[in-house]
Amino acid sequence: MASPGLDELRLQMQDCGSCDLHCDRTQVVFGEGSNTPLMMIVGEAPGEDEDIQGVPFIGKAGQKLDSMLSYVGVTRDDIYITNAVLCRPPNNRNPRGEELDACRWRLDLQIQLLKPKLIILLGKIAMQQMKGQPIKGALTQFFSKKESDWLTYQVGGHEAKVLTTYHPSYHLRSPERAYRMTLPHWTQIKRWVERERQTT
Ligand code: URA
Repeated sequence: MASPGLDELRLQMQDCGSCDLHCDRTQVVFGEGSNTPLMMIVGEAPGEDEDIQGVPFIGKAGQKLDSMLSYVGVTRDDIYITNAVLCRPPNNRNPRGEELDACRWRLDLQIQLLKPKLIILLGKIAMQQMKGQPIKGALTQFFSKKESDWLTYQVGGHEAKVLTTYHPSYHLRSPERAYRMTLPHWTQIKRWVERERQTT
């Protein structure tokens, strides 16, 4: 289904120059997926492959993400994937505070337009973007043991549930620990998806 608001935003972002990341990018990597997504996934920033092809999560981390989505029983067409910032930071460094700040209204607007019931934050940068401030301490402080621990995020009259987990690139670096720590998250998501599908 067409979503003019989202299409306009995509066009507007194409020549965004509101932070220094525009100097080195090949292109803006806006986001992709359903316009009525079951859930939204927020990563960190485009990497080299994404910068070249203009699609989020298509490199090695993207392949890992796809295997997690397959465990949950969803495809990229069921959900929406975007990043905390839309442009690749030079040498894949972490986005800076001012770069996150410059891109926050865009993420908020995507959430308002797409109205996902659940937002999955992949890693510390995504969490920092939603909090609007640097995160002190380990990301594990935001991990949920059960669904009732999930946080919520409100923007423009829309409220979404929020689950935080490790970024897929952490799974590539420390597979055993990442698997052990995050299996409960993906199991919670899988159950949530199954319930949503029964009720909608
Ligand atoms: N890592 C991210 O956080 N986002 C991408 O799109 C690719 C890799």
